[in-house]
Amino acid sequence: MTFISYQNASLELVQGDITRLDVDAIVNAANSSLLGGGGVDGAIHRAAGPDLLHECRLLHGCKTGDAKMTNGYRLPARHIIHTVGPVWNGGHKNEPELLANCYRHSLTLATEAGLTSIAFPNISTGIYGYPKDKACQTAVAAVTGFLDQNSSLKRIVFVCFDDENFALYETALTSLYQPS
Ligand code: ADP
Repeated sequence: MTFISYQNASLELVQGDITRLDVDAIVNAANSSLLGGGGVDGAIHRAAGPDLLHECRLLHGCKTGDAKMTNGYRLPARHIIHTVGPVWNGGHKNEPELLANCYRHSLTLATEAGLTSIAFPNISTGIYGYPKDKACQTAVAAVTGFLDQNSSLKRIVFVCFDDENFALYETALTSLYQPS
């Protein structure tokens, strides 16, 4: 595990299943229906249990780049922030801005709720086909940019499922480290 201090927060890197994490909120890489799907979305719905789907039905979907929060139900995490990443379409359909918005809007919701810890999966890098290196750069820039402004958040965890993402985040987070 990698851990670096950034502003008043810590940025952490872990490899594994996001549904296991004991944090205030985990972020779900959902689809716009918010009614469940494959990948991390399916894993979160299975682990949280059927009450999650009932709450999601009341939300009437979510636009790409936006985020909505629910209870965490059977998860160790108290809340789930559902965000909808962009489908990769070659990079000329505003994908970087939309992906950055997923991170920013999730962090904004968490901050407004007074949460202190949040864990992100590698949004859009599975079924949605976003190149992992580009997604990693955008994710780290969006999170550090947000922390540069303000936040109650003390702990931001990047949860990587696969080795390629883990290696990319290790390099990106290490390069942020500046000895004082
Ligand atoms: P998207 O549709 O946004 O691409 P996916 O769920 O297909 O969403 O993939 C997003 C990322 O989540 C991928 O890097 C995938 O490997 C990862 N992932 C899948 N299952 C889990 C899990 N249980 N915990 C953490 N990350 C996961």
